Amino acid sequence: MNEKIKKTPMRMCVGCRQMHEKKTLVRIVRDADGALHMDLKGKASGRGAYICKNTECLGRALKTKAIERALGVALTDEVFKNLAEEIK
Ligand SMILES: [Zn+2]
Repeated sequence: MNEKIKKTPMRMCVGCRQMHEKKTLVRIVRDADGALHMDLKGKASGRGAYICKNTECLGRALKTKAIERALGVALTDEVFKNLAEEIK
């Protein structure tokens, strides 16, 4: 097998706004009903935003409304709690 050297995919975290390797981030997706979920398998369809797997960045995204801007859905305290649970 002749493996090709691939570039590491990089994505920006909506919390700290730093570029990170895609695999170290988790994707938050908005489903058809406008609900936010963690796409832990990386296979969910829909609009998504990447964030570090920590509650610190999630908290920052909550404060800066970065997710709201990226996905058009407000990240409420309740959703934040659910996502923080999923991220653990
Ligand atoms: Zn981050």
